[in-house]
Amino acid sequence: MNRLPLTMVCTCDLAGQVRGKGFPAQVLEAHRSKGVGWTPTNSMITCFGQIVSTPFGPRNDLMLVPDPATETHVDFGDHGPAEHFFLGDIVHTDGKTPWDLCPRGFLKAALADLEAKAGLRLVAAFEHEFVYSGQPPRLGDSYGLDGVRLAGAFPEVFLYALEMGGVRPETFLPEYGAGQFEVTVEPCGGLEAADRAVRLRELARATAYRLGHRVTFAPIVDRRAVGNGVHIHYSLTDLQGRPASYDPARPFGMSAAIGSFTAGILAHMPALCAVTAPSVMSYERLVPNRWSAAYTNLGYRDREAGVRICPLWEVEGADPARQFNLEYRAADAAACPHLALGMLVRAGLQGLVDALPAPEPTRSDPGTLSPEEAARLGIVRLPQSLDEALQALEADSAASGWMPDDLRTAYLMHKRGEILLLKDFSPDEIVDRYRQAY
Ligand code: GLU
Ligand code: MG
Repeated sequence: MNRLPLTMVCTCDLAGQVRGKGFPAQVLEAHRSKGVGWTPTNSMITCFGQIVSTPFGPRNDLMLVPDPATETHVDFGDHGPAEHFFLGDIVHTDGKTPWDLCPRGFLKAALADLEAKAGLRLVAAFEHEFVYSGQPPRLGDSYGLDGVRLAGAFPEVFLYALEMGGVRPETFLPEYGAGQFEVTVEPCGGLEAADRAVRLRELARATAYRLGHRVTFAPIVDRRAVGNGVHIHYSLTDLQGRPASYDPARPFGMSAAIGSFTAGILAHMPALCAVTAPSVMSYERLVPNRWSAAYTNLGYRDREAGVRICPLWEVEGADPARQFNLEYRAADAAACPHLALGMLVRAGLQGLVDALPAPEPTRSDPGTLSPEEAARLGIVRLPQSLDEALQALEADSAASGWMPDDLRTAYLMHKRGEILLLKDFSPDEIVDRYRQAY
């Protein structure tokens, strides 16, 4: 059948959903600066597609303007429609004033403040786990070569899509759960890292769709099984791009800057969870013994820490200063990467401004610390429900102040609406709804 190629301009919104509007690709030039029209209330569409309440009603207009750096164009060679989309900034109708609820604008402002106030830049990479429906389950598949084989064309078509889509895949592996895979990408500057996370999720969906299957990044796919995490790796550079996170003379190799930055993140982590783990099911993942994160602790090479100091490969030619990075583990794919990273940057910057001392890593299960020791280390249990996390955000005056007022009000309204939508469903039905949504 004949076709006229379509191009979409999208935003990854408060629900972590990618929504947008399109036009025939042949008129792309006309849309580069004016983008597409956008409606404030669109930000109040929950991940389930319903609007519970909105501060904006049917009023007002915005523009969603594509960023050329995010152009994602992948022809799968199957004679079907190519994937062609941009991510954009939501601005007012003057085409340039950022709208306070735009997640990309929120991250850009945080990164600009990190540069202006601390002379530092963020380098980040989002590590994703997801479940692919096209791999017939076979006992013993965890990390199995046969698990990759049974996934058929998916692994290689996905890697192709990522590479062609400019997302720069680094590793792909069969994870522990049934049909679960993990993919990592090269680290890059903060804005691009969040953009890549969004593009990666869409390209995974696009690949699975073309193979007659689905992927889900939902934090919990089966309440009895391991969850899907999104681990946010981060480090700092100076404004010349020189690594600024590693200092072999200091404990655990953490520079003073990354120590303060990480202390800021840990100090505000309960509030951060409202944005980094923002679904009702996220809190079934953030429990002890699930290899995710349950406490506000820094761990040294510990895969259950809130933030983990990642290993350094001490092989010849591997520069430790360029490798050194930490991993924020209490995130999942219900989060909009831009909002999540923006909040991490704000918390880290607060730690830098307050010159917080580097946190002391725990060496054992933080759940076994005495109350005195936990208090000395400043370690608390993470929120145990989305409602608790939203309350933690409201109770943390610094963290709630990092969001422009309209964003905070809308975000809390949006998330409380999502909780309301689930009130009559059983836990398994809730799992199923999130599995479909993400
Ligand atoms: N699946 C785990 C999570 O929910 C992570 C396992 C790992 O360390 O990669 O975060
Ligand atoms: Mg993993």
